[in-house]
Amino acid sequence: MAKSKIAPLYRTYLGNSKIEEFQYEVIRSSRKTLALYIKEQKVVVRCPSRASKIEIKEFVSKNRSWIEDRLLEERLLQREFLKIEQGGKIFFRARELTITFKEGRKKRILIDGNKFIIQDHRLTPAKAKIQVEEYLIAKAREYIVPRAKALAICLEVNNKITEIKLRKTKSKWGHCTSNGIIQYNWLIMLAPYSIIDYMITHEVCHLLYMDHSRRYWKLVESICPKYDQYIEWLNAYEHRFWFD
Ligand SMILES: [Zn+2]
Repeated sequence: MAKSKIAPLYRTYLGNSKIEEFQYEVIRSSRKTLALYIKEQKVVVRCPSRASKIEIKEFVSKNRSWIEDRLLEERLLQREFLKIEQGGKIFFRARELTITFKEGRKKRILIDGNKFIIQDHRLTPAKAKIQVEEYLIAKAREYIVPRAKALAICLEVNNKITEIKLRKTKSKWGHCTSNGIIQYNWLIMLAPYSIIDYMITHEVCHLLYMDHSRRYWKLVESICPKYDQYIEWLNAYEHRFWFD
């Protein structure tokens, strides 16, 4: 089985971002050990009532990099996860658009300038979320499925396709099994078409080679010459596509 994994969230960001000094709160209780808690950018040390100040300080400094990573992760999570709400930001086809709820009898999604308009009667964030999901699934069905089939015909492997599935998963963009089941994550429809085409290519090429060998990448390259740039792009931005 060959997978194309979604890079761990924030990997790209943790490398070059920094957390400035942080404060922490100490809560003493009858507990026996020291523990750290982080929530909404607050660091809390829970410790036994007799723990000394030095002991607590050492505990914090020993765990400093872990704390910094968690604080940064939480900050990026809050800032960059997609929230389907009025005024929210959506990273759509490599552009940041403002989500705009619009009252209207007809249910539809429109891109107008830098607005991502979600129209429905008595729209709520919950209804809007479902509408965005339906929109992306429909787009995936209409774009990804026929293109994957056409590429498979071109590579003379169309008889190997058993099924093309569309599924939202947190851990991967695509998947191809040795019995010809190809799966695509429909969240990719938020990406530019070049990226979507790369993902289509990636999985279809696995019908020929079920690995990431040299000859596999040579084949990918023959269809999608800039594939390494697309992988880089995905590593940097894919965390912005997730919403639940
Ligand atoms: Zn792969």
